[in-house]
Amino acid sequence: MNVPDVRGIAAAYGVRIEVGDLGAWGGTTLVAEYDPRGPVIRINERALPRASSCEVRDAIDRAIAHELYHHREAIGEIPSLGDRAARERAADAFAAHVTRDA
Ligand SMILES: [Zn+2]
Repeated sequence: MNVPDVRGIAAAYGVRIEVGDLGAWGGTTLVAEYDPRGPVIRINERALPRASSCEVRDAIDRAIAHELYHHREAIGEIPSLGDRAARERAADAFAAHVTRDA
């Protein structure tokens, strides 16, 4: 297995990673959030799969990679797409790219 270390990428950007209970809004459970005032990426522990530690780690890595896309938008490394849905699709595509098994 040769998965890129997204935690190392986050550390290189100076972004902290926290795992905690972010609660839930209505019927949806937030997986993670990016806060430019840390900067910090918070992972919602209640959104993690009840599965093996490997699957949990993969889910966390995917969430970190997704939020790192938003960090790169925030610091101006990549242009911020005007449409929110387009930004989320781009963040998911980025996460899929950097967490894909090599
Ligand atoms: Zn997002």
